[in-house]
Amino acid sequence: MKTLIEPFKIKSIEEIPILTVEQRTKLLNEADLNPFTLRSSSITIDMLTDSGTTAMSAKQWAALMDGDESYAGSRSYFKFEDKVRELTGFKHIIPVHQGRAAERILFNVLDVKGKTVPNNTHFDTTRGNIEFNEANAVDIPCPEGVRPDIIADFKGNMDLDSLRNVIKEVGTENIPVVMMTITNNSGGGQPVSMANIRGAAKIAHDNKLPFFLDCCRFAENAYFIKQREEGYADKSVMEITNEMFSYADGCTMSAKKDGLANTGGFIAMNDDMLAEKSKTVLIVTEGFPTYGGLARRDLEALAVGFDEVMKEEYLSYRLGQVKYLGDKLVEAGVPLLLPTGGHGIYLDAKAFAPHIKPENFPGQSISCEIYRISGIRSVEIGSVMFGKKDENGNHIGPAMELVRFAIPRRVYTKSHIDYVAEAIIEVYNNREKLRPMEITWEAPFLRHFTAKFKFVD
Ligand SMILES: *Cc1c(COP(=O)(O)O)cnc(C)c1O
Repeated sequence: MKTLIEPFKIKSIEEIPILTVEQRTKLLNEADLNPFTLRSSSITIDMLTDSGTTAMSAKQWAALMDGDESYAGSRSYFKFEDKVRELTGFKHIIPVHQGRAAERILFNVLDVKGKTVPNNTHFDTTRGNIEFNEANAVDIPCPEGVRPDIIADFKGNMDLDSLRNVIKEVGTENIPVVMMTITNNSGGGQPVSMANIRGAAKIAHDNKLPFFLDCCRFAENAYFIKQREEGYADKSVMEITNEMFSYADGCTMSAKKDGLANTGGFIAMNDDMLAEKSKTVLIVTEGFPTYGGLARRDLEALAVGFDEVMKEEYLSYRLGQVKYLGDKLVEAGVPLLLPTGGHGIYLDAKAFAPHIKPENFPGQSISCEIYRISGIRSVEIGSVMFGKKDENGNHIGPAMELVRFAIPRRVYTKSHIDYVAEAIIEVYNNREKLRPMEITWEAPFLRHFTAKFKFVD
């Protein structure tokens, strides 16, 4: 049988709001053309993010009930710790309430001020935490990773020559850690090959630098390796996962992604000193090391989620659903990042709306129009999220202007995906009507969450 099916059936449903175009046009204007600030009661299909939006399984809901809410030494923590150790092999496993808390702790204990952190591509909160600590976040994606028109197996890879060059330029004493994001979220949810992880780790270690994975989507990355990298087809997802982590000295994780739960995360490492320091920061800012700002029942849900995410039926459905949407768009000629990544599709806004200059936010304009006609929420990943100004006030945009449709895990059915494809294709067919935009207000950090826009004609 070739037909893609969801490897689960529905036990409990949640109604979705269905509004009119007129209602949505009004709401979008009231939200200053920033879909981030819309209420979910005005969203029909929410593809803003795949973070914490997972549908939990009946087994996870049952596990919640078994949570041991002891403040210290909770048995729920030890279940969680065992599961994370089985995946990663790290010595110290410290729970946190979500991924950016792990980042905040890491960049605090590493004392990064004035230093440089290389990464294949920093996620926005990672960059935010580095810059907030007055350090320099450097993206060194492989060349094909920033070319939407090139099809390659591992477009999430790091450019290893650039890594060597950055280390040579700034000196090892000015690099607190080398990071690698799997899959490469901001680079299009593209996977990183085992060879690239191994290569980056070797360069870091040859220079006596620690190597950390930002491993939010480790299971999706592992399954891509199984499908695409020579020598891995017959290995289990667990074996591949173990090998990926074996090259790293630690990791930061948002378990709101491949933890298949609604909240949680962890920071893990082998170094005893770093773990001690991390736990001190944790206790001051998150909570005791056996709960890290989570309810203990959340740790139970995660322990089950980490089992479910490793199942091949789940992973082949997950990556297959993303590809199914991508294939429909390709068929209609819509420009998008190819091949499709692990957790969503990324429209190539420069090719989609070439009449809008990067400084006039083509991605934001596309995202707004798709919401307006369909109630589908997406997010701009381009000049709004990463744009800067030089000393003369000229716009400096990132390499790509993208619009991401992140697919929540186990939430939407094939007919929802068909609806999304139809909306994107309709806006694409009327693309010359898309209008340029300008920011009227922005916050100093992570401006895309709250920025206000207007159309300029
Ligand atoms: C989501 C994400 C984070 C941050 O995690 P939160 O749980 O949202 O704080 C960091 N890195 C990557 C690659 C992510 O996708």
